[in-house]
Amino acid sequence: MSERNGDRIGLIGWPVGHSVSPPMQNAAFAAAGLPLRYVLLETPPQRLREAVKGLAGEGYVGANVTVPYKEAILELLDAVDPGAAAVGAANTLVIRAGGVIGYNTDEAGFLAALSHGGIDPRSCRHAVVVGAGGAGRAVARALLDSGATLSLLNRTVERAERLLASMEEDLAVERGRALPFTAERLVQEVASADLLVNATTVGMHPHNSASIWPSGHAMPSRLRVVDLVYNPPETALLREAQRSGCDVVGGIEMLVQQGARAFALWTGRAAPIETMREACHRVLGGDEVP
Ligand code: NAP
Repeated sequence: MSERNGDRIGLIGWPVGHSVSPPMQNAAFAAAGLPLRYVLLETPPQRLREAVKGLAGEGYVGANVTVPYKEAILELLDAVDPGAAAVGAANTLVIRAGGVIGYNTDEAGFLAALSHGGIDPRSCRHAVVVGAGGAGRAVARALLDSGATLSLLNRTVERAERLLASMEEDLAVERGRALPFTAERLVQEVASADLLVNATTVGMHPHNSASIWPSGHAMPSRLRVVDLVYNPPETALLREAQRSGCDVVGGIEMLVQQGARAFALWTGRAAPIETMREACHRVLGGDEVP
């Protein structure tokens, strides 16, 4: 970090008030003895370009990017890491003398969270992912790369189609299907799946009772269910899945794992991951979701 002048890491999003990244990353910086501060950069769409261009001048050495900008940010960067380019979304920015470089730590964070929850992604034959935004991109890429076939459901089906069309033909055309998200379609698709991932904002605080899954339908008990939503830690979707006897993974572990990879990119050091996990659980409450 010695060649960089600045002590701030920002979170670019709209809105960002719900984020747990500030307490998680600030706990990590303190534990590592680093003089960095993680701050919120609430950025309306018309200010996104200006915010990215102004980062270096305002003392930022890095940033995270969250809802809804992970895809739109790519065209505003000076360079994009090949992993982020392959996903089509960036969630982590590193500011160097040469400019702003975009990375994606969501894909590796998602895979690490699956492993932490006892799920080997290579054991998934067919996955259903709901959501084709920035997070859906990382999850779709990770699962296709792991060898699964994929049904990608999205409220705006054209976005799911664009996502698959942007990936290599052998991955997406042969093994991916874009479908409109409806409750009936979801129940139908899940019947032949062994993994369901919610990569939408549905169920996020303050809409805690909302779920992508229609009430009154049981889930197949062999299904593994992952919710990327981490606030609340136990979503309505995960409660329903647990009632049906499914194994579940909540969003906190992916938050921690993607954050640990971002920390390493900003600082060049291994992240104090246990400190980060504890900070998230402290802020979000003690619900026991793996
Ligand atoms: P995004 O790019 O804004 O995409 C939002 C997604 O949610 C889109 O697919 C959107 O569908 C869908 N959606 C929104 N409202 C909906 C509704 N009422 N019904 C059905 N679908 C709806 O956001 P993102 O960055 O992908 O993030 C998505 C979620 O993942 C958020 O909850 C975020 O907090 C979570 N996330 C968690 C982690 C983690 O580390 N745990 C990491 C990344 C993201 P349309 O395309 O039709 O609008």
